[in-house]
Amino acid sequence: MAYEAAGPHPVPAGAPAMDADLQALAGEACTWCGSRARDTFAGEEGKCQWHRCRQCGFWISSLLCDPRDYAVEDYDLDYHLHYYGRSLGRKHRTAHHRFRVLEAMAPHKGSFLDIGPSYGYMLEVGTQRGWTTHGVDLAPVIVELAAQNGLDIRLGSLTDIPFGPESMDVVHARHVLEHDIQTYRALDEIWRVLKPGGLLVCEVPDGESTRARLNPAKEVLRWPYLHMVTFTPSVLAGFMRRRGLRWVPEVGLVAGPPDFLAWRAWHRFRELTRIATYFVTFWRKPA
Ligand SMILES: [Zn+2]
Repeated sequence: MAYEAAGPHPVPAGAPAMDADLQALAGEACTWCGSRARDTFAGEEGKCQWHRCRQCGFWISSLLCDPRDYAVEDYDLDYHLHYYGRSLGRKHRTAHHRFRVLEAMAPHKGSFLDIGPSYGYMLEVGTQRGWTTHGVDLAPVIVELAAQNGLDIRLGSLTDIPFGPESMDVVHARHVLEHDIQTYRALDEIWRVLKPGGLLVCEVPDGESTRARLNPAKEVLRWPYLHMVTFTPSVLAGFMRRRGLRWVPEVGLVAGPPDFLAWRAWHRFRELTRIATYFVTFWRKPA
């Protein structure tokens, strides 16, 4: 999403303050630009509605809960089995692929934090590759499982990360930022734990994917009701830049075995054409 993250992204005139309670605001207005003009679509199984801001395209759910409220009942083992438990062998292979890319961009192999690590396959693979790995998850069942597997995954949340300030070289936030309406609080926490010069890897669903643009009423039905927001590349870049994070263009060619090169080419093609329903961006905390 280079072409969109690279723009200037000025903060809209009506944008709420960074320390505003976005949960209170979100019922009426866009938490990025502050506009109250929105279109509404029915969400998954009638459990929520999705509002799309007419000014900036940011999506906000009507559910607006604290994700910690769902930690026990909804992020249970069934959830993790459904989304992450199948084909663990493939998960490990793609974890190696992801590390290959970020190792080409990170300052060095140091401390790595995965937010929402599920079974911890990024931690396992990161450890194999020489990283010191940690995780934070809001589901007690994941923390218990990690302890049995010898992984350091601690109970916490995106807005309450149980690690010290400036302790992480890399923060990996793959499909987590959309689970919390308090975007600035989440970015504040990530900022706090990142070392100066540290790298944030962020993957989120794309609210402007080809499918979302062609048939939004159908696409929103695919979005889990546990998602509170859906970013567009431009809105995500706005939040990140306002928080002080600097966009890092994704590295070009990275050497690797044929299966890695094929995986990467496929993902880059799908992202750049917006056939993919997600996008990946990289951000650095200034040194
Ligand atoms: Zn907006």
